[in-house]
Amino acid sequence: MSHEHAESAFDKGHGFETRAIHAGYEPDPTTGAVNPPIYASSTYKQDGVGGLRGGYEYSRSANPTRTALEGALAAVEEGERGFAFASGLAAEDTLIRSLTKPGDHLIIPDDAYGGTFRLVDKVAKPWGVEHTPAPVSDLERIAAAIQPGRTKLVWVETPTNPLLNIGDIAAIAGIAHEAGALLVVDNTFASPYLQQPLALGADVVVHSTTKYVGGHSDVVGGALVVKDLDVAERIGFHQNAVGAVAGPFDAFLTHRGLKTLAVRMDRHCDNAERIVDFLTSHPAVGDVIYPGLETHPGHEVAQRQMKRFGGMISFRVRAGEGKALDVCANARVFTLGESLGGVESLIEHPGRMTHASVAGTELEVPADLIRLSVGIETVEDLIDDLERALG
Ligand code: PLP
Repeated sequence: MSHEHAESAFDKGHGFETRAIHAGYEPDPTTGAVNPPIYASSTYKQDGVGGLRGGYEYSRSANPTRTALEGALAAVEEGERGFAFASGLAAEDTLIRSLTKPGDHLIIPDDAYGGTFRLVDKVAKPWGVEHTPAPVSDLERIAAAIQPGRTKLVWVETPTNPLLNIGDIAAIAGIAHEAGALLVVDNTFASPYLQQPLALGADVVVHSTTKYVGGHSDVVGGALVVKDLDVAERIGFHQNAVGAVAGPFDAFLTHRGLKTLAVRMDRHCDNAERIVDFLTSHPAVGDVIYPGLETHPGHEVAQRQMKRFGGMISFRVRAGEGKALDVCANARVFTLGESLGGVESLIEHPGRMTHASVAGTELEVPADLIRLSVGIETVEDLIDDLERALG
């Protein structure tokens, strides 16, 4: 069982930024250290057999650096318990093992992150948990995909990766709960600053903390946050039983990133809005996909459930795949690379890169699609770079 995070004076009832900076940790009583020390210790001295100091016995089960991060994650997502993992997919795998068993069924987005689809299709399915893809923006298709009694999880990403489709979290929670299923929301793209799914009715929030939460492209990690203590107990059991936990160095870096999430996200959003303006008037660019655009089919729902519209933009290049590949290769300030959510801007071709694993399936993405993770550099430099790369 993972360690319950220490109650901090800042867990509840404070603003987002205060919780992000202070929750989960009180300055160390021995030294006064304002940041959680990196507890590089696999085991803990016991005062007599079973005499644990502060509840720690072995660092797979709990480690104080991880506990501090888990408390902060719970606080920013307005949940009761947070759990930190070695990667987003490790978090997802533990979630599936915790809340489903062979014979069960789950619903996933029909444009889910490719790695999530691979996990569900190549790992969970052979284990005996089947899935049905449904568009996150289509409530009727989600409801129709429910298999009464068998569907245990309705899983959505919003915005989705890479097509930035929007799911109405409150409405989907209603559909899931009516069927006796739990709603899981992958909140990686929005980040806890822009969207808090638990407050809208979701049961579990998933993060690849590798992205905006870590924010500096220097650590891989994942998280689950829940509000129900029974669900927390099942996840806590599996976190320890499966063991895919965040190590103390990774937990420290992720926690450090979380503290500046709010200021970073505002700049990601400012820069993305300026780039969307630029792209929508560029002759070489076809569809620009950004939930902040009034023409985006999910704009109204996004406006209701998100604080702002995020730093991710996808767009299609009129001249087709070859040109899209050239644009990716020609960018200089935008680094050609997978992943997202760091301070540096990234450009990628989902069809050949992040989403290559779904080629040939119903989750395949358009070949002329480019995805941008807009960083927090000087926005004029980003626009000049795209202008040059687009030719
Ligand atoms: N969920 C989303 C939306 C992602 O974009 C990713 C990774 O790109 C993941 C989950 C998986 O996270 P990780 O790469 O940390 O395992």
